[in-house]
Amino acid sequence: MIQYAVWFNDLTLPSRFSRDFARVAVRRALGELNVALSGLVQFVLLDDLSGTAENRRITIEFAQAAEGVAELHTNEDGSHIVRLDPDADWNLRKLFWMRLGEVDTETFIWHELGHLAGSGHSNNPQSIMAANPLPSRYLTKADRLLLRTAFEQMT
Ligand SMILES: [Zn+2]
Repeated sequence: MIQYAVWFNDLTLPSRFSRDFARVAVRRALGELNVALSGLVQFVLLDDLSGTAENRRITIEFAQAAEGVAELHTNEDGSHIVRLDPDADWNLRKLFWMRLGEVDTETFIWHELGHLAGSGHSNNPQSIMAANPLPSRYLTKADRLLLRTAFEQMT
């Protein structure tokens, strides 16, 4: 079991940003990942971070990123942050309603979790680990294997 939380930096959230939609998108991303990993690795949403084993903890954070739309950060205590920049035009609803220039939340969460799991970029344009991942919301067999192997070591 890997515990995760969702956090918003109120100071940097644009007024048009919907926390409710963002929360739903994050839960959907991790929920779909649970299914793709066949229940071997289970991501569980935490409302309260106290008393958590730090190295099993991931925070999905909406806060300004130093560069790009998403970045990964590992704290000194071993916990991880997947930071999504709220200034990017995130698609927080449905993939097939994407407008030009929108960034797909689920794809980028999976991509950053792939880096967290130790993966570099893939030459396969279909992979979530492509340098500029397509908003396919589809995990290739290689993606699934990579994430499963890496996260099993964390649990
Ligand atoms: Zn990357």
